[in-house]
Amino acid sequence: MSDLTPVFPANPAASYQAHREEIDAALKAALGGTNYILGEQVSAFEREYAEWMGGGYAVGLANGTDAVELCLRACGVQPGDLVGIPTHTAVATATAVVRAGARPVFLDINPETYLLDLASLEKVLVSERKLAAVVPVHLYGQAVDMKTLMAWAEIHGFQVVEDCSQAHGALWDGCKVGTFGHAAAYSCYPTKNLGAIGDAGVAFTLSLEVAEHILSLRQYGWRERYISSEVGMNSRLDELQAAILRVKLRHLDADNARRRVIASQYDSAFSTLEIMRPSVHEGHVFHQYTIGTDRRDDLKAYLAERQVVAGILYPQPIHRQPAYLEYVDESTVDLSASEEACRTLLCLPMHPHLSDDEVARVIDGVVSFFA
Ligand SMILES: *Cc1c(COP(=O)(O)O)cnc(C)c1O
Repeated sequence: MSDLTPVFPANPAASYQAHREEIDAALKAALGGTNYILGEQVSAFEREYAEWMGGGYAVGLANGTDAVELCLRACGVQPGDLVGIPTHTAVATATAVVRAGARPVFLDINPETYLLDLASLEKVLVSERKLAAVVPVHLYGQAVDMKTLMAWAEIHGFQVVEDCSQAHGALWDGCKVGTFGHAAAYSCYPTKNLGAIGDAGVAFTLSLEVAEHILSLRQYGWRERYISSEVGMNSRLDELQAAILRVKLRHLDADNARRRVIASQYDSAFSTLEIMRPSVHEGHVFHQYTIGTDRRDDLKAYLAERQVVAGILYPQPIHRQPAYLEYVDESTVDLSASEEACRTLLCLPMHPHLSDDEVARVIDGVVSFFA
């Protein structure tokens, strides 16, 4: 058994191999360009990304953490403001809030979907604390209920920055995530649904004003070249990564469709097992396929013996991590569903280049563990 090649949870190298000729040609074109910073590849990627979103403005950035930070700042979040985020997410969501000078207010997740629990948000909204913004995270590839959230944003006057880092192309009510909020952030880390071959990120917004603010912030706060109108940063997207992302974007919808096929194969194979599978909406793009079980660690070890590598993405909720303890106090709402998810969730291999054979090995492993 040990001479089997491992089935990896994600496989960016397989994605390169699948599109090697196109990527090599794109890199060659970028190397032959004239501007290596904010040149024609970045402009073309931004235009194509906005087109793929169905209109609006896309801004290429250095990574997803910066994208969340700059979206918050461009939406007017000020130092000292409170920003609601789920505690079950990539730590980067919280990092970005703190980097923007704001204070995260941790919210729980719905135990059925693992997404931001609106009841938990409601508890904060009816309290004395005024949220300047909320960051719904479309975690694992599934959309938060954006219709309800935007209605509440209107009533309570908070900004909404969607963290779409795990959900490029996911839909809520037939519309792409990222088109609901005041701004949206995407990571293009290599393992994401739209992955570069290095670090990259995108901000998206329907507002020209917000887009122009992000454009300025990504380059030293310049509105006019060499004149900083505010303290910005350097979060430019690289030309080579932009060239790669243009190729990957052309394959994104097909890749997401392949993820859905694999998810439905897992679904039917696991339908009789005593495991938790998330309740899934149409429009899920399966950045991850998660299962929940009290025997999570044993299952992970059992699969590893069979060369199937499963992932524990979030072993600890953010509010338990040393760097973020200072944002937890007596006003913090109940976060037990997030703690439970950190204890029980396991991410099975999920990427568009899994072969049928590899999918079968994952299924065999999980089914035989529970047999
Ligand atoms: C990956 C990720 C980020 C951070 O993106 P980087 O590109 O690594 O900075 C932020 N939020 C979520 C939900 C993510 O999954």
